[in-house]
Amino acid sequence: MLRRFFVVLGCATVLLGQPPSPGGPPSYRVEIASASPDALHAIMESRGYDVSCLAIGPGFVRAVVSVAELAVLEAAGHRVTLVEAAQPMWAKLASRSGGGVVPTGYRDLATINADLATLAATYPGLCQVVDAAAEYGPGATFEGRSITVVKISDNVSIDEDEPEVLFVSAHHCREVVTPEIGVSLAEALLSGYGTDPAITAAVDGQEIWIAPVWNPDGYEYVWTTNNLWRKNRKPSGNGNGDVGVDLNRNYPFGWDYTCGGSTNPGSQTYRGIAAGSEEETQTMVGFLRARHFTKMIDFHSFAEQVRRGYPCAAMPTPVDDISLAEAALLAAASSYVVAPSCCLGGDIHQHMAENTAYTFLPETHTSFQPSYVSALTEIQTNLLPLCMTVLARPVPLTGLVTDATSGAPIAASIDVDGVVWQNGERRRAHLPNGRYNQWLPEGAWSVTVDAPGYAPLTRTVNVAANATTVEHFALGPSGAFELELSTYGWGVGDLLIDLHGIPPGTTEGFTLFSFATTQTVGAGNLFGLQPDFYTLQGLLSPPAPTGLFHWVTPFLPGFFPAAPFSLPAGSLETLSGTSVDGVGIALGPAFGFLGATAPVRITF
Ligand SMILES: [Zn+2]
Repeated sequence: MLRRFFVVLGCATVLLGQPPSPGGPPSYRVEIASASPDALHAIMESRGYDVSCLAIGPGFVRAVVSVAELAVLEAAGHRVTLVEAAQPMWAKLASRSGGGVVPTGYRDLATINADLATLAATYPGLCQVVDAAAEYGPGATFEGRSITVVKISDNVSIDEDEPEVLFVSAHHCREVVTPEIGVSLAEALLSGYGTDPAITAAVDGQEIWIAPVWNPDGYEYVWTTNNLWRKNRKPSGNGNGDVGVDLNRNYPFGWDYTCGGSTNPGSQTYRGIAAGSEEETQTMVGFLRARHFTKMIDFHSFAEQVRRGYPCAAMPTPVDDISLAEAALLAAASSYVVAPSCCLGGDIHQHMAENTAYTFLPETHTSFQPSYVSALTEIQTNLLPLCMTVLARPVPLTGLVTDATSGAPIAASIDVDGVVWQNGERRRAHLPNGRYNQWLPEGAWSVTVDAPGYAPLTRTVNVAANATTVEHFALGPSGAFELELSTYGWGVGDLLIDLHGIPPGTTEGFTLFSFATTQTVGAGNLFGLQPDFYTLQGLLSPPAPTGLFHWVTPFLPGFFPAAPFSLPAGSLETLSGTSVDGVGIALGPAFGFLGATAPVRITF
């Protein structure tokens, strides 16, 4: 049984002004007495204290504090009860078992990865191990670790055109109860395949990805050094010895919104030096963009809630409606309650912005590291039912977008009348299949599908409840010569440059850009551009002698790849908030002018 010790500090019983967090490594889990716990929680969260994912109790606020933070709270006169002091996980489990012997129970990082490898070896047709950091990210974490995930599906070695589903956990490494959910889910899916009809249907019909530990550097640190550690382990480099970024405050979408993470590198909710600055978040962004998950669940602990939504940004009402309805189903399956997301900069918000609206953050259990027996009971009673509900839910509207003549898939934009995204979120069909997914409530929706070079197509689609409506779109050519610039924005700085409807007889060509423009689009005097140093330099650069199109950019002078050309993530980071105008120019033999596209603008 957990030995609790209580220390009463100070004697104030009123809510006092809360000074900013001085930061420092987490040392104690505490309860701070307050007659107005909601108000105190809000103040502490705004001042960088580690309270974000912890429940507010009757007459108190739970927090994890450093030695320095405890001293500040004491000096301010708060009554603080110590619940737990930080210690390595092994010692904690040993003390809980009565001393000395490490009990059978929670798996450390090496054991989790070994168990996943064993599952893949036991079920080779259904389960594959993938290193997400190598496959989708910068290669490894700061300390050089892989991020191990498993893919579970029939024909697992083939990328089938099936809905992709992601279950991830342990962004916050002290939440040791959460990786057990993913490993248990993998075991349940693989052992139940072929005998349990619901499991068999889920595995046959979807590509299921499970990532038990997204913060492996922190997870290792929790087991060896400090079991209350939350962040990753990359030094901040600020000279104060502060270490770590709260990975679930580091995602680009909403990173610098008012409800984003702390700007104090010492805080356990530190958002990082830049949006998407961490290897783990970069890996997840790459993962989201490569797989285009239709459903995504990010497990945390603790609160026994299903969290959802944007806390300080506008979400389209129909999307909010279906998100609430789906959250209620998950809450019913798990006996949890639906609650609003606490902060932006998390992976579920990034997923909402990039892929679909089916994205939830269950705060599981009532503690970071409850007894292992209790963890297993909650997985069986509450969390596997939640996971099976996720897998059983049908995507309301899906289909393929293709070229009406060639049948080739098109990465088209999808707009639904009455669904107004306001924060730069993208809704697209994705290559390689031209597949799109929309989470919409039951009803008749006017859907417009468009892509540069094609004529837009608008159709009314009747979306049914609790079923998948399939609507394919085949687009015909617009005939126009068009330049397409697209980006994920939000400071990540990736840019795709593509041309459509290239005039017949074109043998040479280039794109021309002007940067940081403030004029009306197309109002300049050089192909509609406002000439600047880069556009003039681009005109002076002679086209290469071969190839259909040559790209003139200031990023890689003298480098002219064939279309389409994608600038890598991060290359335009310094241009955040500025606008870039571009035109495409087609030339015939002997550089005869054949035409220019209309100018288009993109804002980073
Ligand atoms: Zn968490």
